[in-house]
Amino acid sequence: MSNPSLLILPGDGIGPEVMAEVRKVIDWYGENRGLNFDVSEGLVGGCSYDEHGTPLTDETMARAQEADAVLLGAVGGPKYDNLDFSVKPERGLLRLRKEMDLFANLRPAQCFDALADFSSLKKDVVAGLDIMIVRELTSGIYFGEPRGIIEEGNERVGINTQRYTESEIDRVARSAFELAMRRGKKLCSMEKANVMESGVLWREVVTEVGKDYPEVELSHMYADAGAMQLCRWPKQFDVIVTDNLFGDLLSDAAAMLTGSLGMLPSASLGAPMANGRPKALYEPVHGSAPDIAGQGKANPIACVLSFAMALRYSFDQGDEATRLEQAIEKVLADGVRTADLLGEDGVTPVSTSEMGDKIVEALTASL
Ligand code: NAD
Repeated sequence: MSNPSLLILPGDGIGPEVMAEVRKVIDWYGENRGLNFDVSEGLVGGCSYDEHGTPLTDETMARAQEADAVLLGAVGGPKYDNLDFSVKPERGLLRLRKEMDLFANLRPAQCFDALADFSSLKKDVVAGLDIMIVRELTSGIYFGEPRGIIEEGNERVGINTQRYTESEIDRVARSAFELAMRRGKKLCSMEKANVMESGVLWREVVTEVGKDYPEVELSHMYADAGAMQLCRWPKQFDVIVTDNLFGDLLSDAAAMLTGSLGMLPSASLGAPMANGRPKALYEPVHGSAPDIAGQGKANPIACVLSFAMALRYSFDQGDEATRLEQAIEKVLADGVRTADLLGEDGVTPVSTSEMGDKIVEALTASL
């Protein structure tokens, strides 16, 4: 059987720097665990614009559609700020998400014990936190019609429309239930069924889908109450599923419970392909960080954790994903820090590349 394929799109700014560290981890898995991938690379974002005049070529798009998983670094930078909207680096990323129809955005909020002091919340509220927010990504108010700014009488009116079909709710709910089955078997669905018809339908469809997952304990919460509970006692949650708009807000808030942007991975999943794997794009939450690009200061952990998500959700290697997460936990527990993770204690930061080496050392120590 051929190896699973992985398309790597390092992108701009710190993207290539953090991706170089992921390549070390991928090589380690090939050499030590017999886990081999057919890895190929491509351009996305500003670097693709520089080379081809477009942030994503049709050829790279087609390769992404074929790949078992896509791993992306980051796109953008000040050099491209004045480009026409149609060729801005971010358009490359949006095209990938849209054409791959990646409707379920997975944002974990996981707090490594060694970093619990970084949170703005009390240590006992966040230490050991491990929750997953599933945000619907391709529908809802960001896409609904009608939209626009129109003249009405003697003033202008801004219009956006929240719109969800049953099938759109059904498929993202199923992704969330499947995830809950692999985790703590608890799912909380958040909407505003008290004031929005789309929320009423959301709740009905999620409840209906839940009948196919009797082992999962399903609860419902209004999204505003959910936001409060996330700050008050986030450990009550396992998996949360919500729409595009609420998910945008709730996943950012939850992510920040855990500290640095340099630590946050994400996955966007679509429908299963012929081989049963979901279409999938894995990427750190952070951007291209032009302020530190090229200086060896970037924290590669968000990107490495994105690869861990790929191991778990695309390649059925949950144990190896856990091994990688535990290796990172150990490195942090040993006090190894990139500059973004420095506290008050006068630790000398390691470089991007040194952090990658330490993770690989910890992987080897885990054997
Ligand atoms: P950013 O995430 O790039 O940076 C915000 C701050 O966090 C900066 O101070 C940066 O140095 C720091 N930071 C980010 N990642 C880090 C890491 N791995 N290690 C250490 N520090 C890190 O956001 P921004 O500055 O608002 O945007 C910069 C560019 O990135 C813009 O062009 C923006 O459009 C783009 N962007 C891309 C994505 C993406 O590719 N998914 C996401 C957000 C922003």
